[in-house]
Amino acid sequence: MDQRLLTDLKAAIRSIPDYPKPGIVFRDITTLLGDARAFRRAVDELVHPFAGGRVDKVAGIEARGFILGGAVAHQLSSGFVPIRKKGKLPHETVRIAYSLEYGVDEMEIHTDAIGQDERVILVDDLIATGGTAVAATRLLRQMGAKIVAACFIIDLPDLGGAQKLRDLGVDVRSLVSFEGH
Ligand code: AMP
Repeated sequence: MDQRLLTDLKAAIRSIPDYPKPGIVFRDITTLLGDARAFRRAVDELVHPFAGGRVDKVAGIEARGFILGGAVAHQLSSGFVPIRKKGKLPHETVRIAYSLEYGVDEMEIHTDAIGQDERVILVDDLIATGGTAVAATRLLRQMGAKIVAACFIIDLPDLGGAQKLRDLGVDVRSLVSFEGH
């Protein structure tokens, strides 16, 4: 990606120190989404490597992964499937538990959302420790999905999540990275 575009995308992300708790810098993409040029460029960059290839479904992680995943799916002419916090999806689901910093949470997907061997791209706004994306990867693979890639706008490489995903054999792509937490 060209350096100016990268600087522009980074500048469009708002950083909020000590949110939601002391020591965390929250990387807020609402400013990027609200900037027409930045939003388009970000989606174009996420889609670029897959243009012309076969992608059956884009799976977005609640909630910011829905906004980006919807746009990516539209541009790739793929279907979109939501991965949601437990209890939100109305039909039969498959569920997986994953650890958060304190305690555990569960995410789920409709059992009929993805067919055997469908080619799927996983999308979220940010990868930190990788707990969320690793659980989503397991869930998708459990359903028979072939994960083409996992895409994020932001990587926090110091937290090691992208590496965890790579260790699972997933092609990880991100547009910008920030040091630290
Ligand atoms: P993790 O499971 O640790 O990789 O965390 C990833 C999930 O938490 C993503 O859905 C992010 O939206 C959110 N998240 C984690 N850390 C941050 C941060 N510093 N700024 C914004 N969102 C974050």
